[in-house]
Amino acid sequence: SGAPPKPAELLTADDVFVSVKTTSKYHRGRLELLLDTWIANDLQHVSAHLINTNCSAAHSRQALSCKMAAEYDAFLDADRKWFCHVDDDNYLNMGALLRLLSQYSHTQDVYIGRPSLEHPLEATETGRSSGPERVVFWFATGGAGFCLSRGLAIKMGPWARDGAFLSTAERIRLPDDRAVGYIVGAMLGVGLTRSPLFHSHLESLALLTRVHEQVPQTRSFSKLIENHHLFKCVHCVLHPHTPWCQR
Ligand code: UDP
Ligand code: MN
Repeated sequence: SGAPPKPAELLTADDVFVSVKTTSKYHRGRLELLLDTWIANDLQHVSAHLINTNCSAAHSRQALSCKMAAEYDAFLDADRKWFCHVDDDNYLNMGALLRLLSQYSHTQDVYIGRPSLEHPLEATETGRSSGPERVVFWFATGGAGFCLSRGLAIKMGPWARDGAFLSTAERIRLPDDRAVGYIVGAMLGVGLTRSPLFHSHLESLALLTRVHEQVPQTRSFSKLIENHHLFKCVHCVLHPHTPWCQR
């Protein structure tokens, strides 16, 4: 309660590089829904691109890290202040995201998202001449969306840029979102800023009660029809002037 936090930096949608991870088998079922809802609304002036990563279509650790590496490299090549990753079953509330990121400075080290565990992750680093080593760090769950400031993303370069991300993820034998946490927390010593505004499908629909404030909302697409209704409903609450929202 009280006054909203003072923005550190006023942001617009074109200050944020949003990458949506997808795969061909979900282009119809998932991506089309996003293109009809939040992408149509929030990225229309900014231009949305589809990047074919040539990563394997398998749901393997390597394939998913290959996609994260492509998302990260594309961000560094773009002239944007913030990098935000979401899955293709996320509804992104751009207004809420901009209000959240405005409270931080993109030149500082900011890693913001929702931890999926109540404790930091412990992992074993391999490939060191001194032998395997235990490392402990927090990570933001990729399925709920997370953001990195440009300042921090640049510092991640030695472990992430131009193919390094894949070998880093292999050294720790962890999936893509955990590998991001490893670089940020264990290599750079930067903490995770927790935000309750990021949601994954692991949570209940109770989040819908404060829909204007929430950032990405995910639902498992096992029930495709429900998701269509849910995302279109969320979209019409946030953007009531959309033509197909008027009954
Ligand atoms: N995904 C992918 N390749 C695959 C399967 C999934 O790139 O072979 C992507 C998918 O498009 C989504 C993310 O990985 O952005 C998570 O997939 P999903 O929601 O199916 O899995 P879960 O949330 O259960 O991890
Ligand atoms: Mn999912």
